[in-house]
Amino acid sequence: MRLEQALEIFRRTGVMQEGHFKLTSGRHSDRYMQCARLFQYPKDSATVCGEIAEFFRDKKVDLVAGPAIGGIIMAYEVARILDVRNIFAERENGVMALRRGFEAEADKRALVVEDVVTTGGSVKEVIELLRARGAEVVGVGSVVDRSNGTVDFGPRIPFHAFAALNVASWEADACPLCREGVPIVKPGSRKS
Ligand SMILES: [Zn+2]
Repeated sequence: MRLEQALEIFRRTGVMQEGHFKLTSGRHSDRYMQCARLFQYPKDSATVCGEIAEFFRDKKVDLVAGPAIGGIIMAYEVARILDVRNIFAERENGVMALRRGFEAEADKRALVVEDVVTTGGSVKEVIELLRARGAEVVGVGSVVDRSNGTVDFGPRIPFHAFAALNVASWEADACPLCREGVPIVKPGSRKS
């Protein structure tokens, strides 16, 4: 039921496009995800972030943090719903940092959010950053989990995604859509 709801939102907002795509990796796929498109629509953003916020409400979160760029609007929206402070982390000389006077004090219970989790690398960096300031990380939330269930942030850090989606991809010479002669699109180059 919830997956159906998620797919309806993702299709309508353009987060998930279906067709025949050439990915950045060079592989071909029948889906292309662009999670940033969700946040074009405040009501849909509130629906998705609300589900995540409610999942973690009993964790008594008092700070929401996300890595730039994907986590910025999401952290704001989850924090707005929980009525707590939000910050974002960003790379400075390649290293994830808190800039702009953002702080994560030792008495804070922090929720880390990211729009798409694949390997979880950026999220792990934010977790380490907050812990270094003494904050306690009590959970990780994402809009989409693309890790195939492989990502693990540690025993006391539950991970919850609005939707888990596995996107199949193929090398060009093994692509069933090429075999069917379906025209291919390079995402981002399309005028639509
Ligand atoms: Zn193909």
